[in-house]
Amino acid sequence: MKVLRTTCAYCGVGCGIEARVDSEARTVEVKGDQAHPSSQGRLCSKGSSLGETLDLQSRLLAPEVNGDVCNWDTALTHVAERFQSIIDKHGKESVAFYGSGQLLTEDYYIANKLMKGFIGSANIDTNSRLCMSSAVAGHKRAFGSDTVAACYEDLDYAELIVLVGSNTAWCHPIVFQRIRAAKDNNPRMKVVVIDPRRTATCDIADLHLALDSGADVALFNGLLHYLAQHDALDKHFIDAYTEGFDRCLEAAGNDAGNIEQVAARCGVNADDLATFFAWYAGHKNVMTLYSQGVKQSSSGVDKVNAILNCHLATGRIGKPGAGPLSLTGQPNAMGGREVGGLANQLAAHMNIEDPVHRDRVQRFWNSGPLPERAGLSAVDMFDAIADGRIKAVWIMATNPVVSLPNADKVKHALQNCELVVVSDCVAHSDTLDVAHVKLPALGWSEKDGTVTNSERFISRQRGLLPAAGEAKPDWWILCEVAKKLGFRGAFTYQHQSEIFSEHAALSGFENDCKHGLRDFDISALAGMTRQEYDAFIPTQWPINASYPQGRKRFFDDGLFYTPSRKARFIALRHRLPANLPDNLYPLVLNTGRLRDQWHTMTRSALAPRLNQHRPEPFIEVHPNDAATYQLEHGALAHLRSQWGQMYARVRVTDAQREGMVFVPMHWSEQYAKKGRMGALVNPVVDPVSGQPESKHTPVAVRPLKAVWYGFVLTRQNHDWHSDYCVKVVGDGHQRYELAGTSEPDAQALYDQLDPDAACHWQTYTDTARKVWRAAAFNDAGQLEHAVFIAASHNLSGLPDRQWLSQLFKEDALEEEVRLQLLSGIAPSGSDCGATICACYNVGEHTIQELVISKGLTDHQAVGKACKAGTNCGSCIPEIKQIIARVGATEMVKSA
Ligand code: SF4
Repeated sequence: MKVLRTTCAYCGVGCGIEARVDSEARTVEVKGDQAHPSSQGRLCSKGSSLGETLDLQSRLLAPEVNGDVCNWDTALTHVAERFQSIIDKHGKESVAFYGSGQLLTEDYYIANKLMKGFIGSANIDTNSRLCMSSAVAGHKRAFGSDTVAACYEDLDYAELIVLVGSNTAWCHPIVFQRIRAAKDNNPRMKVVVIDPRRTATCDIADLHLALDSGADVALFNGLLHYLAQHDALDKHFIDAYTEGFDRCLEAAGNDAGNIEQVAARCGVNADDLATFFAWYAGHKNVMTLYSQGVKQSSSGVDKVNAILNCHLATGRIGKPGAGPLSLTGQPNAMGGREVGGLANQLAAHMNIEDPVHRDRVQRFWNSGPLPERAGLSAVDMFDAIADGRIKAVWIMATNPVVSLPNADKVKHALQNCELVVVSDCVAHSDTLDVAHVKLPALGWSEKDGTVTNSERFISRQRGLLPAAGEAKPDWWILCEVAKKLGFRGAFTYQHQSEIFSEHAALSGFENDCKHGLRDFDISALAGMTRQEYDAFIPTQWPINASYPQGRKRFFDDGLFYTPSRKARFIALRHRLPANLPDNLYPLVLNTGRLRDQWHTMTRSALAPRLNQHRPEPFIEVHPNDAATYQLEHGALAHLRSQWGQMYARVRVTDAQREGMVFVPMHWSEQYAKKGRMGALVNPVVDPVSGQPESKHTPVAVRPLKAVWYGFVLTRQNHDWHSDYCVKVVGDGHQRYELAGTSEPDAQALYDQLDPDAACHWQTYTDTARKVWRAAAFNDAGQLEHAVFIAASHNLSGLPDRQWLSQLFKEDALEEEVRLQLLSGIAPSGSDCGATICACYNVGEHTIQELVISKGLTDHQAVGKACKAGTNCGSCIPEIKQIIARVGATEMVKSA
């Protein structure tokens, strides 16, 4: 058993992990690393369960070409020869790389160096385009560089924290915990949430502005106008350190009008808006945190700049407790930015259009001429694959068939592409399923390198376990192909530390006043030995002669990275989203993440406890819309847009704005038939950043007219042919949620489960009520399969799943339990209900009963009684909702 420090595989918060590793047993126990400055010992439900995702069963263990397993040399020779022949025939613009914020910085650096420096095309883009490219573009417009000015520590000093387009509680849970802790320490601190939905983040909000989708520019233009009118500007800062203010203010004034007009444009209450404006004007230490709700928009860059304009106008940047902070989605989205992973960037925060930058990078790499123009960004790249301009694509560590907008088109494009290479750590994904060449890459716990989080901390992700099967590091795979393409001399690295050292050296190369300044400079790390690299502790860039220990805040010196060294105000006008609802598609689809899942679930769905909180794809809909479109809570809905369709379980909630619906982004065809939300999303992008408008697609919704609903619990994997089918990975079993639009055939289900009639079946059938129930036991008396089918989706038709799932852990089941099983009635006290706390597996019924029986009135008391909410704290908002619900019911009873 050894203890190693590493970094979480999931979001951009970048939490530190202390891992206890048993290499022989291939197990890793994780806990929060107290020494990591970003997370200070905390981990959320996802990070806490990383150790449960390391099973080899789901892994891609050997290279495959056209379905045949082969050795590395055969696979890589094939990739190199096919790329070369396509380049020879159609030119270097006919090939592309599509990477991911899951790649380590070293992998990303090599991919970028190979494509831009040696193949000579800029056709390398990344799924980070979908996540934060509007922040990159907004930062560059305002600061002259893609600089994240603030840090998490600023949350401790803030007096007002504004969360825009961010369900921080679920998507960046440890940042949320830090905000909650800061607010607990300073009860005068105010938190404002600006989001069309009332999310779990509103749990700590003093004010929630449920603005209209896409109205952020109108709101922040209104704020800027208000600040000017109320003498709340920092005129010294504006004069000394910025340019373009007058034109910006004039544009904001023209756009804004008075508070009532701004409120009407944003769809919020005028008094609430006035309160927000007054708080912003009245507090010195203001932080604005913004996430995908801002960036995934056809005006995402403008929204970022509208936020930055207000910070610059009040001089609230580069100061403790004051500044804008973009929350990145992926663990290494920031590292990707640093190495130039986007098609319009060069390495080390240099610009592809700048001939001086191109010349510098070319000399440093000793490469051929670098491309003079930006390559194709994500959506354009897959359009080019669809129309045949790109004939070979190499996709690394990502799943565009699920995550890109207009995802059915993406799938067809790849199915018709001459050469699709996918390197990934899993054996199956919707994208791997259409690949000609599959290359097994190391996964988290095996790969070894660096990542950068949202606050610029570079941390080590360390190799904990030996490689799975034949899996190799992404950088190694790329280097071997580079050598076979004839670029041997530039790709001879023996170890990832050498790549990091080169990356660090490039960041400092000609990076001084004489040659032009760049913010990203980690030159102090160039030449690190392997031992130093192995021992590297999290450090915040820049790390150079001026800042050998890193730098917390940028712009504390008032120096920006524009030619004048002044920050730029950007004059803006509010623009409506590109596609608006109409008679055919009357509702607006908003998409986002869930608390316990990550991206397309290739890793997080392997941890059974992460699948219990929200086990199925769902649509959240306001009660009035539910009535209009005849959607019943718990039933199924059919969503349709101009681009595609999906099925989802209905959740009726007044947390949703009328006229808008919400669908989570995670489900792929591996887990849900017709559950890919990407199929619906419009492919409109921001004109500056190319980031898709994933938060605003007009859709139509109707009930899915199922005549039967059911679920199967089984120890085996099955492929079901019902209209609706969702797989939920449990502990030692799978659950399949099923529904059909034609009469059910229960016997066919039983036969499929047990084709050799090897089990002992007990069945219950009531054809009049359309109820079929069956349980199958093995010779040892253990439960092998259970089937429940009914005409209705609700509890009168189908029993609660949690208790039934527990029976798979039991040895031989007594006759009494078997009868209870078939009756679908759990013994009193054994049904804990839907999972609320994933860390300690505490269900809703357990919490409810404790609240009633012990008269608990706060989440701390619930935590003491059953531990729920005492680890990562992500479920605290829901515990508080349960307490409130029970309280309201008890009040009604006593009245
Ligand atoms: Fe991982 Fe959760 Fe931390 Fe994000 S907040 S890095 S998912 S532990």
